[in-house]
Amino acid sequence: GREIHLASRPEGWPSAENFRLVEAPVPTPGPGQVLVRNTLMSVDPYMRGRMNDAKSYVPPFRLDAPLEGGALGEVVASEADGFAPGDTVLHGLGWREYALLDAGAGRKVDPTIAPVNTYLSVLGLTGQTAYAGLLEVAAMRPGDTVFVSAAAGAVGSLVGQIAKLKGAARVIGSAGSPAKVKRLGELGFDAAFDYHDGPVRESLRAAAPDGIDVYFDNVGGDHLEAAISAFNVHGRAAICGMIAQYNSAEPPAAPRNLAQVVGKRLTLRGFLVNDHNDLRDRFVADMSGWLRDGAIRYDETVVDGIERAPEAFLGLLRGENLGKMLVRL
Ligand code: NDP
Repeated sequence: GREIHLASRPEGWPSAENFRLVEAPVPTPGPGQVLVRNTLMSVDPYMRGRMNDAKSYVPPFRLDAPLEGGALGEVVASEADGFAPGDTVLHGLGWREYALLDAGAGRKVDPTIAPVNTYLSVLGLTGQTAYAGLLEVAAMRPGDTVFVSAAAGAVGSLVGQIAKLKGAARVIGSAGSPAKVKRLGELGFDAAFDYHDGPVRESLRAAAPDGIDVYFDNVGGDHLEAAISAFNVHGRAAICGMIAQYNSAEPPAAPRNLAQVVGKRLTLRGFLVNDHNDLRDRFVADMSGWLRDGAIRYDETVVDGIERAPEAFLGLLRGENLGKMLVRL
């Protein structure tokens, strides 16, 4: 089967040369193992961090070895109890056509409950990130004004919609193109702006003249600075990601206004989705209900072919995705 290896570590923006398509023998499962033919995989911004040889909350990808990440596939051979050929399995060995899993490393999903794609997006860690970050980390309350950046992306688009469903007074999103801004209107955001149109601080002030109470940060930099300036007293930020600096070799120029944290008594709280698995059942119950009722909509951008997975990942960093970026294998 084919797989994508990390050929070299990018400095700054990654490019196609950092990846290599490799043909590898299809493995045979040993006792307690299953062989899965992958059908769909996720590309995610955090993977950029794993391409650096730096200590972080997840170890770096190895050079000349397949990359890893969330994936779905079908069992083709099983030497493990509880798995049979034809089962659909969610696991962490994407970027390859055939994944050899220890039984404990895969979770069987029921393709009759929801379209399987949703286990990598709205019903998976993407949705859980939005839910936990907004409701638990930022502790959004009814009546709050909420701002979310990268709002047309996988996590951001759900944050805005969950905020409305949970009683936010006003939800504002920023995104990188006129088409994305238009989409945010369709998804029920009260206001949206393209961050290329002017300083974020000014666009946000115009969209939230009475200030904001919650900021869901996917971007960092000038967006975080703008949110700090727009915060009302006791404002709360869930710091989910800072994609504006993932490809930057220089330290960020913003935020320059952190001192406002004191006078406004702000809370800026970083989080990782995996620390909030205690919310999982509540999240799945709420989200399944919203999906059933059509109360939440989600976009997907699907790229075809494992050989195009690097292209999909690079496109994600450049904002070519609406909603969740996925690769169909
Ligand atoms: P998205 O679907 O949001 O895709 C990334 C988006 O980021 C792009 O579509 C692009 O949209 C936007 N972007 C890229 N560069 C910039 C920039 N310089 N300034 C502003 N926007 C930019 O990805 P996800 O939903 O998967 O992830 C969103 C964020 O959440 C990321 O920061 C990620 O690291 C983080 N995350 C954190 C988790 C956690 O546990 N803490 C878990 C999952 C995700 P545009 O066209 O609008 O620029």
